[in-house]
Amino acid sequence: MRIILLGAPGSGKGTQAQRLAERRGIPQISTGDLLRAAVARGSELGRAAKAAMDAGRLVDDSLVLGLIRERLAEDDARGGFILDGFPRNLSQARSLDTLLAELAQPLDAVVQLEVASAELVRRISGRRSCADCGRVFNLLTAPPPTGAAAVCPKTGAPHRLFQRPDDNEATVSERLRVYEEQTRPLIDFYRARGILRSIDAQGELDAVTQRLAAALGAQTPPPPARMRKTPAARRAPHRRKASAARHRRPKARASTRPPEHRRKKTPIRAARKKRAPPRGARKSARRRPRR
Ligand code: ADP
Repeated sequence: MRIILLGAPGSGKGTQAQRLAERRGIPQISTGDLLRAAVARGSELGRAAKAAMDAGRLVDDSLVLGLIRERLAEDDARGGFILDGFPRNLSQARSLDTLLAELAQPLDAVVQLEVASAELVRRISGRRSCADCGRVFNLLTAPPPTGAAAVCPKTGAPHRLFQRPDDNEATVSERLRVYEEQTRPLIDFYRARGILRSIDAQGELDAVTQRLAAALGAQTPPPPARMRKTPAARRAPHRRKASAARHRRPKARASTRPPEHRRKKTPIRAARKKRAPPRGARKSARRRPRR
């Protein structure tokens, strides 16, 4: 499946993308992570991106597009992917269209994660990531596990938590402003394509994961009991259809007679029908006594 997760900073795109990636066995492709890795490596691209990231602005489209083009060409993205943090403006969305058309890999769904702005700020202030495995935690809503489950899968030691440098108050408010101005218009862009789904991304982490799965069709609610198939019908659905057709009553046809000539059920006729003895009883009454 090829999916975009769309949402404001702090809406939980990264966390939900990580969970979805594990469950579906497809990679999470986060432009934020790719850019942070480039900054950490000190590559030319990283150096060019750093100033914009620190200020909460968008990094130049051409740089981000180069990263995405390279990443989508990797083997593990052939079976599907989850885009997290990309596209972030209309120009990136159009470029993605062109790229995916070249790769003959159209999008299946865009899921918008809806969270109220007060909650976004609260979440961002509690966000921490592991410096080694990159897992995202939240001291307020999704703290790292304790005990045996607490170890980092990369190092086998406890997670080394750090706060992203752009999660400070000034940068956060700029990122939220940029989201409203540049990224929000993508909601209408994908809605017009008929592939947009929106979920309430507030509340329990697991509940949001379930809503996301349902929005993607993995957990469609069970059909009402009368529509559920019996085991036999499941084995041979064609037979069920044929026998159902055989037993179906023909639909009453609309009368072609003018209404004034139609036979009406008079009270007398209905009463006569009620009084008539049952069939068996009538027969025995007619039978002559044997001599
Ligand atoms: P968040 O969604 O919480 O803002 P990200 O990790 O997605 O965090 O992004 C961090 C920063 O990386 C952004 O503020 C921006 O500077 C840069 N960035 C990430 N993705 C893009 C993108 N698609 N286009 C431009 N800049 C991006």
